[in-house]
Formats: sequence, structure tokens, C-alpha cells
Amino acid sequence: MTATRYIIGPDSRPAFTRYARLHEDRARARTVILAPERAYELDPIGLIVLSTIDGVTRLSDLCASLAQQYSAPVEVITRDVTALLQGLADKRLLRDGVDPFSAPRPSAFASAITPFAGGPAGLLAELTHRCPLQCPYCSNPLELEKSNVEITAAQWGEAFRQAASIGALQLHLSGGEPTARRDLKEILAYAVEAGLYTNLVTSAVLLTREKLERLAEIGLDHVQVSIQDVVPESADRISGYEGGVPKKRDVARWTRELGMGLTINAPMHRQNIAHLPQIIDFAVEVDAQRIEIAHIQYYAWAQTNRAALIPTRETFMETVGIVDEAKKRLQGVLNFDFVIHDHYATRPKQCTGGWGRSIMAVTPSGKALPCHAAQTLPGLTFDDVREKSLADIWMNGSAFNAYRGLDWMKEPCKTCDRREIDYGGCRCQAFAVTGDAEATDPACHLSPDHARFAAYAETESQAPAPDFIYRRFGGAPQSAPAEESV
Ligand code: SF4
Ligand code: SF4
Repeated sequence: MTATRYIIGPDSRPAFTRYARLHEDRARARTVILAPERAYELDPIGLIVLSTIDGVTRLSDLCASLAQQYSAPVEVITRDVTALLQGLADKRLLRDGVDPFSAPRPSAFASAITPFAGGPAGLLAELTHRCPLQCPYCSNPLELEKSNVEITAAQWGEAFRQAASIGALQLHLSGGEPTARRDLKEILAYAVEAGLYTNLVTSAVLLTREKLERLAEIGLDHVQVSIQDVVPESADRISGYEGGVPKKRDVARWTRELGMGLTINAPMHRQNIAHLPQIIDFAVEVDAQRIEIAHIQYYAWAQTNRAALIPTRETFMETVGIVDEAKKRLQGVLNFDFVIHDHYATRPKQCTGGWGRSIMAVTPSGKALPCHAAQTLPGLTFDDVREKSLADIWMNGSAFNAYRGLDWMKEPCKTCDRREIDYGGCRCQAFAVTGDAEATDPACHLSPDHARFAAYAETESQAPAPDFIYRRFGGAPQSAPAEESV
């Protein structure tokens, strides 16, 4: 059944969904709402209101009680509380009545954390590079790590506890395909015990309903199903895997039937861009609360397949219009994260929230990275989470400090008034295009390389698309486009 917008009114009995909850963020001495891919900070009034909603009390009774308690006009309280709750309902974090599925139990470990200044908000755990799919834009490195170097479930458990203790709230269990790990249940149990909000990033093709049920019982909060396309022949060709679409549809539906949050993640490129309206319809059909439509970035396998993947400026602009229209039409039903195409942008993205500022990624073999693509940069040394504490790596690791803050910047970033907004953009893209990791991201119109960056996209996108070079173990073949072609 397709979801409809939940309108908050006097007779509403709002409650959090199973996949959203209040959380005491002890590392930062505040309370937040933990939700898919987000932590929303609350002011004291918001906290009072949200501690009161229980799925039983009518909104009018709740507002009357607050008005009495705080000697405030009930109309003003009702207006403000309704606006707060409507905003959260539109993010699909609230439902009417108590959720039949109970959220994971509060973690004793998370309740004992001591404050830690400036730690990462999230941990990206690449549990394995193994994957049955072969997406030609995969962000995994060209040289994939083999299963015999993967760290154990217990070692992941130790990393999760350390991550939580330095302030991580969100954990992304990713890969490769994380469900290829036979010990995924054990790994997830460690994450839940550490009090992290858990997000399984999966291609879905290895999951059964029974496996997903077990993960939900352990306490999985949210599933992100990545799709290559929704037109089966196209999806099969892009992923190098037959029959993925019906499996993804099943897993998406089961996720919602089991009360977990659901995001559909649709990397966008030349070969699926025409199907964006159907991809949005698919997300609505499976009752996802969020969709990520991300024009891909061109490093790792996507750099190898760049000429087969870059869309024309016109088709990119069409996606902007499609998403704008869908956002309005689907308010309160589907939330959009739209990542624009760098070649047709004028400003860069704030990559990973700024280098060494908000995320730590850990590879299957335990290497800690400031960004999941950081291994594409030369000269960086990555510490092993089995040999050093995450706190030490975060604060003192040479890779984490290489491009942290502003001191490393060259002109035009060095004196630009946006330098603390976008931190000069993506280091990996800067290096891939200019050969200099300290250069301004060429997505920026102030970069001396911007015109060249935009021009090759225009040229390659107009030419016939070459065949894909599929992601596979053993690395990219010699026929991959050379960087000099940029
Ligand atoms: S992008 Fe594709 S190939 Fe890469 S890990 Fe995800 S599903 Fe597997
Ligand atoms: S010059 Fe640097 S800091 Fe300024 S907008 Fe461009 S990338 Fe951002």
C-alpha cells in the first residue's frame, strides 16, 4: 500500500517509528533524534515535547497539559508543537499510534560514554570487498582486498565500541556486499551493543526474508538498498548480475514489513538516467522513506568507465527538474537526497563533511581512512585499527591530518570565503583530474582546471558509449582510459 502524508492535527496520537529514537549523545552532551543517515539535535523545548509523545495521548491533550505546565497560551503551544511534529512526520520519523515493532533496547555501553571533543559522527565499516555484482562505477578500489585479510567479527566489535566512545552515532555496514559475511549477525550484535544506529548498505541479492528477520531481531535500524536500474534488462547489464530487480523489490518490501527504515540508493549516470521517473516510482511502491539519487563521482571503477557513464549536460539538467517536481508531489511520502553532477556544477560538494571532520571509514582489512576513496591518493599512510586506538588514529593519524582544516590549502581556496563551507571540495577528485591532491576541486568554477573538467564531460557524453569494464577481483585491465585523456 502506498504511503500517504501523515498530517498532524488535534486528534493525532504521534509516536516515533521503530527506526527513529531519542538518544543521549554523551560524547557531545546533547540529546538527538537518531534517524536514517541523520542525527537531529534538539533544543530543550523539542526534547520535552518528544519525550512526551507516546502514540496514545492525543495532540490536543498533550498541548493542553504543556500549556498548563509552562503557563503558556494553549494556541501558541499548539501551533509550535504541531509545526515541530509535522516537520518530523514529513521526514517520516513519526507515525500515528504505537509502532508494533519495538526499537532496539538502549545500550548500557552508550549510557556510560564520557564526553570526547571533535570525534567522528559516523563510521563506515567496509566489512568485505566481496560482492556478486560488478557495477562499473563501484567506489571500491581497483585492487580489492581478498577475504583472507578481512578482520574478524570480534575485531569489528572492538572498533565499534571505540567508535561509539569517541562520538560516532551512525554505523554504515557496507562493502562490497556486507551480507556476504557469514558472521554478519555477530558483527551487527556488537554494533547494537555499542549503541550505534545501524544502517545496512546492501545490493540485497543475497538476502532472504529469514536472514532479514534475524537482523531485525538483533536490532538493525535501517536498510539501504542500492539499485542499478529498475528496468530489468538494463539493471542486469549494468550490474553484471541477472535477476537483481525482483530480489531488491522483495528485500525492500520485507524491510518495511519488519518495521525497519528503508532508503533506495540510486547512483545516476548516462546508462540509467532516462529511467529516473520509474526509479522514483519504485521507491514509492516499496514504501521507502528516503531516496538517494546521486550522480556518481569519477574515481576508482567510475574513473575507469568514465566515458561510458558521463551523461550530457541536458540529461543532467532534466534530472534536476524531475527531482524538484517529485519533491513537491511526494512531500511527507518520500524524502530526497540529490547529489548533483560535479562536471556540470559551479561549486564543489563538501566532501565527507570535510576531511577528518565527521567520518571514519575502515576497510575490510582494518585500515582506517578519512574518506572511503582516500587510497586513491599518493603518499598517505593508513593506520590499522588492530594496532592503534581509533581515538589516536582520529586525532594523530597522518592521513587524517593531511587535509584536515585549512592550512594545507593553496589558492584560490586559501583566501576564499567559502573555504570553511566546502573545505576545497573533494581531494580524490582534485588529484584524479589535476595530479595534485592539494589543488582546488575542479568542480569549482574558480579552479584553473574547471573549464577542462567541464569540457571533457561535454565531449565524452556526446560520443558513443564504450563497453563497460566490470569491477572484478584482480584490478582493472590495461585498456582502462589513461588519466592523460582528461
Ligand atoms: S557498487 Fe555494485 S559492485 Fe560495488 S559494492 Fe556496491 S553493489 Fe557491489
Ligand atoms: S575556491 Fe576553494 S573554497 Fe572557494 S568555492 Fe572553490 S573549492 Fe570552495
